[in-house]
Amino acid sequence: MSDDCIFCKIIAGQIPAKIEYQDDDILVFHDITPQAPLHLLIIPKKHITNLNEIRTENADIISKIFTQIPKLAFQFEISEKGYRVVNNCGKDGGQTVFHLHFHMLGGRHLEWPPG
Ligand code: AMP
Ligand code: ZN
Repeated sequence: MSDDCIFCKIIAGQIPAKIEYQDDDILVFHDITPQAPLHLLIIPKKHITNLNEIRTENADIISKIFTQIPKLAFQFEISEKGYRVVNNCGKDGGQTVFHLHFHMLGGRHLEWPPG
């Protein structure tokens, strides 16, 4: 746990969140400022700052996260209509919370390209 990390505090139960799923390795909760009817954040329970820290040794967490995503899509009935998974890495990537997370957005048509 990183003491000054808001997502680590959510994992520790120190800050409330609307949790959809968790297991030993990952946590899924609703974004506090949703950008679509469904806006989930999928995060590792272990503090990883961002994608720059992914190596062969810790890449299993990416597989776990991406295995959960189609299950969530089925649960929220957006598998067929579609959805978007986004990772913002670093300041130019738009990252504001420095604990690795993937946004899952669905429930409306999403424009492309992003700004
Ligand atoms: P990013 O800009 O990619 O780092 O995304 C961080 C996301 O975390 C934003 O979409 C925020 O709305 C969201 N967020 C920040 N604080 C909280 C919180 N306490 N609970 C849920 N989502 C949060
Ligand atoms: Zn953290």
